[in-house]
Amino acid sequence: MGICDSCHSGCCRSFAVPISGADIHQFTQYQNKNFWDFACRWEDSEGLISRNLAPHFFFEDAPDVPFVICLKHIPSASFPGTTKCRFLMECLPDEDHPKGLGRCSIYHSRPHTCRSFPAKLNDDSELAILYQLPANGRNGEPAYDLCPRQWTPADLEPNETIQSLVVAKYEMTFFKKIAVVWNQNPGPWNAFPEFIDIIYSNRISSGQFGQTNQGQSPDDAESLSKAA
Ligand code: SF4
Ligand code: SF4
Repeated sequence: MGICDSCHSGCCRSFAVPISGADIHQFTQYQNKNFWDFACRWEDSEGLISRNLAPHFFFEDAPDVPFVICLKHIPSASFPGTTKCRFLMECLPDEDHPKGLGRCSIYHSRPHTCRSFPAKLNDDSELAILYQLPANGRNGEPAYDLCPRQWTPADLEPNETIQSLVVAKYEMTFFKKIAVVWNQNPGPWNAFPEFIDIIYSNRISSGQFGQTNQGQSPDDAESLSKAA
């Protein structure tokens, strides 16, 4: 049995989960999900959500406030007065599981950030390092209790974990370039989903020779700006 199997998923309740443009595009274009049902913008003036990994976006209505695009939280039914990821399914408590069980309703298509938790890449991006997690992810409320013990390397499949981390890093690096373009002239929050859709729908070019200037990378800010 895996460490998460008998857990109420305090991690999916405690943390703001940053998502990339690729996650957004996957949900909206291939899973028929409405952007406003799963995404939100979290103010991140202190950088505690982005942790230098996710980009900051600015918007017309609050031009000085940095936001991170994250999964939306909704009220928890199992723990009134607390919140949870909108994709977390809550199962009722029983004798063996006094806090109930938590299950991700989009497990096989969950964002890359979720897939690699609780690991991060080392400086060379070749190995994974496990975070040491606190007992509680927020304010001591039982809903936000985290893992019953610290994770060990044996809890994760090594190759899958590294690959998830590498993809997560790659997508967030690309998303940072998208943020540079957006932040040059921040638009309203309600224009953001269409902006993301245009960028990510044009991620593949025909690759014909002679269509890009010499020395110009197809993913530089200017090219992305033109795509948008
Ligand atoms: S998407 Fe799934 S794994 Fe990620 S925070 Fe939400 S419920 Fe948890
Ligand atoms: S809190 Fe820890 S054990 Fe529980 S679901 Fe999250 S990662 Fe797994």
